[in-house]
Formats: sequence, C-alpha cells, structure tokens
Amino acid sequence: MTNARKPVHIAMFSGGAGSAYVAYHMVQTYGKENCKLFFTNTLWEDEDNYRFMYEIADYIGLEITEVLDGRTPEEVFIDYKFLGNSRLAKCSEELKVRQTLVYLEELRDNENLEPILYFGIAPHEKHRRGPIDSSSLDNNIQKAAGIRSFYEHFPVEAIETRFPLIETIRRDIDAKGIIQNEWGIKLPRMYTAALQEAENNNMLAKKATELGINGFSHANCGGRCVRGGFQHYATLYAVWPDQFKEQEKMEERFRERFNKDVSILKRSGKAYTLKNFREDVEREGIEKYLLFKDETIPCVCSFS
Ligand code: SF4
Repeated sequence: MTNARKPVHIAMFSGGAGSAYVAYHMVQTYGKENCKLFFTNTLWEDEDNYRFMYEIADYIGLEITEVLDGRTPEEVFIDYKFLGNSRLAKCSEELKVRQTLVYLEELRDNENLEPILYFGIAPHEKHRRGPIDSSSLDNNIQKAAGIRSFYEHFPVEAIETRFPLIETIRRDIDAKGIIQNEWGIKLPRMYTAALQEAENNNMLAKKATELGINGFSHANCGGRCVRGGFQHYATLYAVWPDQFKEQEKMEERFRERFNKDVSILKRSGKAYTLKNFREDVEREGIEKYLLFKDETIPCVCSFS
C-alpha cells in the first residue's frame, strides 16, 4: 500500500534558520513540485516570524502550507483546565503535533501521497554528527531521535523523518550566516532581540548582550513558550518586558479562573509564578537568571 503512494517531501517550518536552509536543499534535490513548506500556526507567533517565513518561501519558490487549529495556547490550557509547563505542554500537542498528524494522514488518504518529513535540527558540535542515536551525548541528536521515534510509532503508519544537518550535510553549516549574507534575508528579530533593544538603550538588554545573549534561543510563540525556563523568561523580561507582563497576566487569569496554585515555572518542585519570578529578578538582579542553565526541553515547535 505504502509503495503505491508518491513521496512528498515536507519541510517542517516555523521560522527557524536551520529548517529554512534544509527546506532550500530539499527543493533543490527533489523539485518544488514534489515538496511542501509546512507551518502550524499557534497564533502566538511574533509578527516578524511571518515576514521571515514569507521571504524564505519566496526565495525557495514554494508557497507555505499553513494549518491552524484556531485556538491560542491559552485557549488550549483553558479547554484542558491545565496550564502548560516545561513538563507538559498541551499547546504543543494540540496546535502543532495533532494538526501535523491530521494533515499527513489526509495527504495519504486523499491524495495518495507518502510524506517524508525534514527537520532543521543541527548537532551542537561537528564531531558528533552521525547516526541519530538516543544515547548520543549531544542534546539535539537525542531530540532528533525522539522525533524519529515519535513518527515511527505514533501515526497510523510510520512516517519517515530526515535530519539532513545531522545525517547527510556533514559540513559545519552556518545557516544563519548563509540566509543573511547570501540570500539577503534578515533573520527573525527574535534571534537578535537583545542586541536591538540594547541599541535602544534598554539597560537590561545591554546586560544580556554583555553575558553573550543576543536574543531568544528559538523563535516560536513570541518568547512566551511555556516550556521556557528561568533563562528564557529572564531574557523575555530583559528584552520585551511588555510581552513578559502579558504572559504574567495570562498565568494569573488561569490561576484565578480555576482557583489552582499552578504556574509555568517551578522552583524546588513547587509553583513559582511569573510574578514571583519577576519580583525575585528585581530584588536579586537579573544576571544570575540570565546565566541559569535551563534543563527544560523545548517542544517540537523549536525544531521547525
Ligand atoms: S512553542 Fe511553547 S508555547 Fe508555543 S506551542 Fe510550543 S510548547 Fe506551546
């Protein structure tokens, strides 16, 4: 049955430089008539991500295929009466994973196409490129193994996944540099938000840049990712305090609505609200939080 389907190559894309680079090579290899650029919209995306995605789509010559659940992450939390956090983020499952699986099954059922998925995950260090192995010491290779295993076991039939930056493009690729300097496309502002705000004389953003933080480590959900940890939220507080406040208010609305002592962040295994976090940052100084090594695992969103 599977053999009868025509392969369709699908780049998972939501504003990442690595996935943009991988999408370009996918189209060069298989031709745009056999490829798709796939985006699941959470409605929390930063506006500049759309600009980037459409410029990339133009450069590659492929339209974006967008699917949309229609709810924001907050609406998903309300529906489930569960506030997303680093361990369990229903927003990712509902707005990204489910939407993706439904779309892929429809491709099989309605168009007789067999999807092959492409991800822009790169290994952290060159010498660790190689087979995708869950016991790898490299976090990103472990994450790739997790994604592969998911698509092998979860859909009705296994779906092939490819990670060209780990498996086939063995050279060290500076995707961000290539996109900016060779393709002439500015990266999403989220990658350089701290630098930009520092130029505007935001003192906390200046501090972040002095500590080597130029922006957010991933460009999803406008810096509001509930899987982010202390460093992520310290960066948000430093760079876009209004956006931090929005998230603080969202958390507060949820707590009041369900009368639950829950929070996005945790401290010593207990609820630790963004308000508590902000007060600690203001009292203790932001440095130690900017330098905090988060152990949280970003959702699949951050690899596309
Ligand atoms: S990026 Fe974070 S907040 Fe957005 S959908 Fe994924 S897990 Fe949820």
